[in-house]
Amino acid sequence: MLAKPSIPAAEPAVAAAPRNPLQKAMAKMGLVRDIDFALHLPLRYEDETRIVRLADAREGQTLQIEATVTACEVSLRPRRQLLVSVDDGSDTCTLRFFSFYPVQQRAMQPGAQIRARGEVKGGFLGWTMVHPVVHAASADLPTALTPVYPTVAGLPQAYLRKAVLGGLSRADLSETVAGSASLPGQAALSWPLRDALVFLHHPTPEVALATLEDHSHPAWQRLKAEELLAQQVSQLQSRRARDNLRSLVLKPVDGGLRDRLLSALPFTLTAAQQRVGREVAHDLAQAAPMHRLLQGDVGSGKTVVAALAAAICIDAGRQCALMAPTEILAEQHFRKLIGWLEPLGITTAWLTGSQKAKERRAMLALIASGEAALVVGTHAMIQDKVQFHNLALTVIDEQHRFGVAQRLALRDKMAEPGLEPHLLMMTATPIPRTLAMSYYADLEVSTIDELPPGRTPIVTKLVNASRRDEVVARIRMQLAQGRQVYWVCPLIEESEVLDLANATETHAALCAALPGVQVGLLHSRMPAAEKKAVMAEFVSGTMAVLVSTTVIEVGVDVPNASLMVIEHAERFGLSQMHQLRGRVGRGAAASACVLLYSTGDAPRLGETARARLKAMVETNDGFEIARRDLEIRGPGEFLGARQSGAALLRFADLATDAELLEWARAAAPLILDHSPALAHRHVARWLGTKTEFLKA
Ligand code: ADP
Ligand code: MG
Repeated sequence: MLAKPSIPAAEPAVAAAPRNPLQKAMAKMGLVRDIDFALHLPLRYEDETRIVRLADAREGQTLQIEATVTACEVSLRPRRQLLVSVDDGSDTCTLRFFSFYPVQQRAMQPGAQIRARGEVKGGFLGWTMVHPVVHAASADLPTALTPVYPTVAGLPQAYLRKAVLGGLSRADLSETVAGSASLPGQAALSWPLRDALVFLHHPTPEVALATLEDHSHPAWQRLKAEELLAQQVSQLQSRRARDNLRSLVLKPVDGGLRDRLLSALPFTLTAAQQRVGREVAHDLAQAAPMHRLLQGDVGSGKTVVAALAAAICIDAGRQCALMAPTEILAEQHFRKLIGWLEPLGITTAWLTGSQKAKERRAMLALIASGEAALVVGTHAMIQDKVQFHNLALTVIDEQHRFGVAQRLALRDKMAEPGLEPHLLMMTATPIPRTLAMSYYADLEVSTIDELPPGRTPIVTKLVNASRRDEVVARIRMQLAQGRQVYWVCPLIEESEVLDLANATETHAALCAALPGVQVGLLHSRMPAAEKKAVMAEFVSGTMAVLVSTTVIEVGVDVPNASLMVIEHAERFGLSQMHQLRGRVGRGAAASACVLLYSTGDAPRLGETARARLKAMVETNDGFEIARRDLEIRGPGEFLGARQSGAALLRFADLATDAELLEWARAAAPLILDHSPALAHRHVARWLGTKTEFLKA
């Protein structure tokens, strides 16, 4: 296709409100300030610096030729197309266009000198190129490779190229990092920033393209080091800002609630629980707010650690709030916690969205008066109406399932101005080391790396969906031994209706296959009261089989359940499957997880689905699962857009750039201490308006 008539250069890209659709599209991509454009780096390059003679062309090569048009005609067979014959003096070639404008046809009349760039194919009638990019041959050849930028629909490359060029020439690219402090390992900074950027936008043709593509070129290293440093400095800034905030010093009282709870528990803590318990207690005793992530595999016993922290807080005469992402999970916590704490004289309040107005009013009164020392609930507890008497500790379970705004809102529930609550976050999706170092550089991390004693490892089996009958036979065997079974159907993102149909169908089929057995159904569209009733029956053991959508995903604790069937396992994410599997193996009985998969119309499973299922069969270890998940999905998706604050790392790759990350981590405190002004400029340059996300 002929290049569109040249488009005037972009308006100076200053931070004014975007006026035209193209500027709007660019703003949407985060391209607003000159520096944003300068940092918008190419995806790949096209080599338009050279002309290749057709006589030297290789089959399948992408190249640029310069030739004279010898014929130009519209052919109607086998379908309408424009056929242009050209001759470059060494050989001839046919250019084919299946869609074209009259203006292009006119520009390629016999005698015209053109440059065509595309992939050449040899054939019976000689060389052909389908839909090459065509220019008039008058212009000088460029001396650098042509950048191809990430773009969006409706934003042409040519326009974006000019805008980037403008931004690059205007942006302040003065050094903020190199030479500003005695940084270690200056190798990462061997290229000046300006040189690195100019080079990456317009590399010379001699460069080994592979080093640009895999980002190993020193210019790329420089950019990645800069980016990682910005992130580390920003995290360090927020950590230091938090260290300057004040919280209440919460210390356990001898013979107080914590001690009484410990002696009342029906089990003794594992060594890992004791260790993380000490870590939490240490933080609570500081005047700066705790900001700790407690990670531990499913079933590792995080709840009791949270309860002990709550007890310390209550001992100090203060309130504690525990927020969970789903009603079922919140309810489980509530039951467990009142079971432990009510006998010790503690009142616990309960808050969810589905609560009746009257109950809710009563709960709000308990919370406001301080009579309820502990409040358990869903995000219903961050609403304005909820007034705490004297909150001092907040615990967030499955914290990655909450948005940044929700987490911040809970922090704002502190009644006293100038005081921050201590924050304990919990997750069963452990975070691999490189991620913990980067995204969580301003968090303390505690890890429970051991399961309570007496658990037998879960055996995981892959079974083709055509062998469902064998699975049903297996269920019968479990039931005969008095055990209970989960059967989970997938969530089909696009259609909640389909999702439901799948679960109801399976439910009906199992009811028919297992006469006399109570088979329950649980899905997200059921009213809360009904869900509660079904869960209660399963927990009590009267219901033997529970068919459910993924609503049971987290936290459900029924130790007598020993078999988990996951239907359409190929559709589940890896950590989600691991969470589901964690619903069994919670008692002493040997437990199993059956992954039923189906390839649909395809002959075999896709590569990533296979990798996920393989990981499930090969390991039960949540850390190994997390590592593989990161490998399969990459960090952006691993954390979810919400949590990563819209893909905070654009260039660095935590899987391959661990060394640069180590460097940035060591360099961040140095630059912040020695040249704080430069450090601030550096963060503003790289993160602009995204810094708010990083602070959460
Ligand atoms: P998770 O870390 O997945 O939230 P829970 O806190 O729900 O795990 O604990 C899983 C189960 O193990 C619960 O029934 C809990 O009471 C029990 N549990 C916790 N700690 C211990 C322990 N030290 N010994 C025995 N059982 C424990
Ligand atoms: Mg839990």
